[in-house]
Amino acid sequence: MIELKEVTKLYKGQVAPAVDRLSLTIEKGETCTFLGPSGCGKSTTLRMINRMIEPSSGTIRINGKDVKEEDPNKLRMGIGYVIQQIGLLPHRTVAENIAIVPRLYGWPKEKINERVDELLRLIGLDPEMTRNKYPSQLSGGQMQRIGVARAMAVDPPVMLMDEPFGAVDPIARNYLQDEFLRLQKEMKKTICFVTHDINEAIKMGDKIAIFNQGKLVQHGTPQEILTRP
Ligand code: ADP
Ligand code: ADP
Repeated sequence: MIELKEVTKLYKGQVAPAVDRLSLTIEKGETCTFLGPSGCGKSTTLRMINRMIEPSSGTIRINGKDVKEEDPNKLRMGIGYVIQQIGLLPHRTVAENIAIVPRLYGWPKEKINERVDELLRLIGLDPEMTRNKYPSQLSGGQMQRIGVARAMAVDPPVMLMDEPFGAVDPIARNYLQDEFLRLQKEMKKTICFVTHDINEAIKMGDKIAIFNQGKLVQHGTPQEILTRP
């Protein structure tokens, strides 16, 4: 469970807070989509959860534990993070890219290799064909999937996804959404999923959190949001 309480972020040099007294709970196993126009504080909120940036005030807890009390590097290793510009290392193979966090954890080689192949199958890619390729040999949709696999490598219970499918064409996006939904049915991870696309927010979210100018303006199931006057 992720719990944000009265979280505010005022960036240096800005007059208005990027995130303004945000209180929001994401239940265990739930996908909460963060919906709102560009600049309303969605990414800032994600980055505060994994402590890439620090809130100006307020508290953030994951499973009851204040993230401030954890070592930021350890915390980040335990949270899957997917962004739009997936940032695969260009001179590393697919397998090496996926293995980054497992290596930091010190997993033995065989375990890493097995996990890489398992992940590739999970995301619908043929391990034999894919593991030794370089990012430049992949399509945009394939890279995006590798980004998701990399984030899931050590099976983190929490995933932060910032427009994970935003950079691919609409057909590939639809496909990736379906595939991820299918995976999530089994994975039951706690997910914050940022999007500015209302259809994606409805499709992917058990709950939707609507942001506007740093404030949470609505929160509920897609059904509740759609039927609310
Ligand atoms: P979103 O993800 O909804 O597009 P962001 O969280 O990226 O919104 O940004 C919220 C606001 O904070 C915007 O006004 C943006 O310009 C500002 N902002 C984001 N990052 C920084 C930063 N590093 N320094 C200063 N202002 C920032
Ligand atoms: P997004 O909207 O996808 O969150 P942006 O394009 O707003 O991304 O931001 C990209 C990068 O620029 C982020 O690292 C963010 O922190 C930084 N940034 C955004 N707005 C500002 C700003 N006003 N001042 C300084 N850095 C910013």
